Amino acid sequence: MSDYASKSWWLESLPAPIAANPPLAGSQRADVTVIGGGYTGLSTAYHLKRLDAGIDVRVIESDVCGYGASGRNGGFSMTLFGLTKGITRFRFDDGSARAAHAYMEAAVDGLHELIADNGIDCDYERSGYLLVGTSPAQVRRVAHDFKIIEKWGATGIERWDRDRLRQEFRTDYYRIGWFEPRCGILHPAKLARGMKALAERMGATIHENSPVTGFAKHTGGGYIVKTATGEIRSEYLVLATNAYSVLFPQLRSLQRPVFTHIVMTEPLTDAQMDGIGWRCRAGVEDARDLIHYYRLTRDNRIVMGGGDVSLTYGDDLDGDLNEKIFGHLERHVTEVFPQLRGIRFTHRWGGPVSVTLDMTPVIGFLGADRTAIFSLGCIGHGVSLTHFNGRTIAELIAGRRTWRTEMFFVGRKVLPWPADPVTHGAAHAIRGFMKIEDRLYYG
Ligand SMILES: Cc1cc2nc3c(=O)[nH]c(=O)nc-3n(C[C@H](O)[C@H](O)[C@H](O)COP(=O)(O)OP(=O)(O)OC[C@H]3O[C@@H](n4cnc5c(N)ncnc54)[C@H](O)[C@@H]3O)c2cc1C
Repeated sequence: MSDYASKSWWLESLPAPIAANPPLAGSQRADVTVIGGGYTGLSTAYHLKRLDAGIDVRVIESDVCGYGASGRNGGFSMTLFGLTKGITRFRFDDGSARAAHAYMEAAVDGLHELIADNGIDCDYERSGYLLVGTSPAQVRRVAHDFKIIEKWGATGIERWDRDRLRQEFRTDYYRIGWFEPRCGILHPAKLARGMKALAERMGATIHENSPVTGFAKHTGGGYIVKTATGEIRSEYLVLATNAYSVLFPQLRSLQRPVFTHIVMTEPLTDAQMDGIGWRCRAGVEDARDLIHYYRLTRDNRIVMGGGDVSLTYGDDLDGDLNEKIFGHLERHVTEVFPQLRGIRFTHRWGGPVSVTLDMTPVIGFLGADRTAIFSLGCIGHGVSLTHFNGRTIAELIAGRRTWRTEMFFVGRKVLPWPADPVTHGAAHAIRGFMKIEDRLYYG
């Protein structure tokens, strides 16, 4: 088995080492094959079994469920769709951006219910999400988002002024805050493993250590999916491989993997916690282009992520470690919390997110018969979204028409990324622009 535990503190700190399920073996048949055992794949399997207990669903995971972004992320359950509200409005229209926000609110509430109803032990705290402005330009950006939300008539979001922020954090660092109480933080790998157990309890079959080497239409109908040790034929195919989709020629141009990174401190003492406040325990993000996101764990470590991203060339999926970004993140912890100067950092890791050219998520179809479904482009905002998308995909397969299946991003046309080196150059240029804008304007 792979050294999965080295991929994040979350995977390392699971209550027990993972005993992987047996790989796919021999020649098999099923109704639905799901490639990828992250949140998208596991949620699809769970919801399919909920809609139709008799359906035969197989999840084929290359490593162990939760090995990808689902076992490494920041653990924010949040309502942001795509990169920003502004991009969705610009690329589509105001009505679509508003509908996307409603979808995301339902996604966050849905994940809350999923965890509560099924008793998934994942250190879930409904402590809210706090977007902060730390410079005049960031204040303008957060205030602009408030205007959009007010125009939409959305409720449940609080504007925190400097005094309120000072009460919570014992600092003048924050100038404005957007607080969304419905959001939460959780232990991502426990959630992934909890979703695996739940899907299995519902009757789904999961094969681990089974890298899919390829898939194709079967001459007799449906799809055939192949691994080194077996193959499976099914009527429906779900491609839940997120950033790893670059490995399949049929999906290669639809998205790019981009790596985001995280550092983690030792647990804070009671005196250190008292010193920084953070009474609300909300997950925090700033409003730069290359955002910082940070939160507390159940045992009061600080997880700090973002700040910059790594880009890799072609099919390279080995970009999880970046010393320069780790150093930047460690310095940023004490920039935000000078009281913690000298704190020890115990863990550093990274993982791939899936980015479409227009920075907007998609649930799409390969072919006109809509029997092969993919979900891509959740960027760094997929914890709640992927779980809800799993429900939407299950409804599409079960032939149920719901408000989810009618969303504008279901079946939308995806603009292809050009081949490398053009894409690599373009991605570097976008990242370079964001870095300069942060340095001159937002930082
Ligand atoms: C460092 C980091 C921080 C993040 N922070 C947040 C956050 O705080 N909040 C938020 O909302 N989102 C966050 N995200 C994004 C979020 O984690 C993802 O959007 C979400 O986990 C994607 O889930 P998924 O199931 O689609 O993909 P993944 O979890 O990546 O699952 C894909 C699976 O496919 C498997 N696979 C790959 N190739 C094959 C193959 N050939 N055959 C079989 N299986 C294969 C992989 O092993 C993997 O398990 C973050 C992501 C990262 C990397």
